[in-house]
Amino acid sequence: MNSKIWLSSPHMSGKEQHFINDAFATNWVAPLGPNVIGFEESLEKYLSEYCHVAALSSGTAAIHLALVLLNVKLGDEVLCQSNTFAASANPIVYQGATPIFVDSENDTWNICPVTLEAAIKDRINKGKKPKAIIAVHLYGMPFKVDEIHDLSKIYEIPVIEDSAESLGSSFNGRKCGTFGDFAILSFNGNKIITTSGGGALVTKTETLKEKVVFLSTQAREQSPAYVHSEIGYNYRMSNIVAGIGRGQMTVLDEFVAKRRSNFEFYKEHLTHDAIRFLEEPQGSFSNRWLTCILTDSFEIREELRLLLQAENIESRPLWKPMHQQPVFKDAPKYLNGVSDELFEKGLCLPSGSNLTDNERNRIINCINEFFC
Ligand SMILES: *Cc1c(COP(=O)(O)O)cnc(C)c1O
Repeated sequence: MNSKIWLSSPHMSGKEQHFINDAFATNWVAPLGPNVIGFEESLEKYLSEYCHVAALSSGTAAIHLALVLLNVKLGDEVLCQSNTFAASANPIVYQGATPIFVDSENDTWNICPVTLEAAIKDRINKGKKPKAIIAVHLYGMPFKVDEIHDLSKIYEIPVIEDSAESLGSSFNGRKCGTFGDFAILSFNGNKIITTSGGGALVTKTETLKEKVVFLSTQAREQSPAYVHSEIGYNYRMSNIVAGIGRGQMTVLDEFVAKRRSNFEFYKEHLTHDAIRFLEEPQGSFSNRWLTCILTDSFEIREELRLLLQAENIESRPLWKPMHQQPVFKDAPKYLNGVSDELFEKGLCLPSGSNLTDNERNRIINCINEFFC
């Protein structure tokens, strides 16, 4: 049997261990310390000098705290891109609020501005103005930044930018993770850089960042005794995993280049008419976290997936949209058919920054045999 090819596996640079050893040598084995500060600084430097970054235990925790800071409460409504991973939407429910799912558009596969505006108007007509919009740069492709932010301004609804999959992507030269009122990052094991598990919340001011740090460390007030006037969370990143993050930041741009080269390789070698790729619209730069292809039908996609599996190659259907998920079956939704079709026909191909030439050749040979 050929060795297993994973969809997107962790890729260490070799520099991570040094930071971890440092944490042990200095006994900073805690959810605070020099690696946490250092990791936050390198993210701030990477994203933009106007960003403030709080390192947390996960991207999901970051979305949760963004909702807390936007005062999302029991009975509120939050608009959310339906075509995404469940972690984008789950924290809405943690707050006792209702997710309102909005479909995608074909240019980016992300939240459709036209459907979003229709949804906003309809929710307002029905008597409730949504408290936030969660928009996602899925698979690294920037959403329609200008259009979404125009709507955010017109209707005065803040945007939470889910950049979990798009660290290293940009729009008109500006990095993803810097557009929303809040943005979130993820460093889970399969993301473009990983800390084994972790995330971050990006804020526009230092004051908000301090508030995030406060909430993520149990809302402990400055006092020798533990005084609490607010409900807190245990969401801060540990100094050990932050060490992995510092090592990973030294190779982030290299990893983006490698993932983009995977996309180019697939595009160059998979030229059958029945295989389509998502191109970058004008101004968009995708980190190509995962290369996805669209086939002509559900049956073809499934046959291909099973053939790859038989060859010990992992591939995965695109995210099953949230409006199709049993757990969200009662949530209101505004659909146009795009994400249903993407889910039916789309397949994510192995896209790791550690794929070898031999592995990439195995994958295209397998796919080309299937289509010939
Ligand atoms: C991974 C991911 C998250 C959640 O991040 P975690 O760090 O795994 O909690 C949120 N949104 C999207 C789109 C993701 O892919």
